[in-house]
Amino acid sequence: MQAHINQEASNTWLRKGNMYGEKEGFMVAIQDQVINTRYYSKHIIKDPNTITDKCRLCKQQIETIDHIITGTQSTPEDTTM
Ligand SMILES: [Zn+2]
Repeated sequence: MQAHINQEASNTWLRKGNMYGEKEGFMVAIQDQVINTRYYSKHIIKDPNTITDKCRLCKQQIETIDHIITGTQSTPEDTTM
């Protein structure tokens, strides 16, 4: 837990319960950082088919959730995921 995060506001969407289960599960997975990024696949799952943990867009930085949300430098033109 980080002190600057508003727990009340951050969890309102969960308490309201007006979201489809699939979407709720997906958002919880993002919060828990268990989305299938290349970093997750290579270092956590240790999938032998994942050769690189580099980002699929910029191919320079490590593909983590933080990088996808805040860090990728790619322009929309080369978004071909
Ligand atoms: Zn990137």
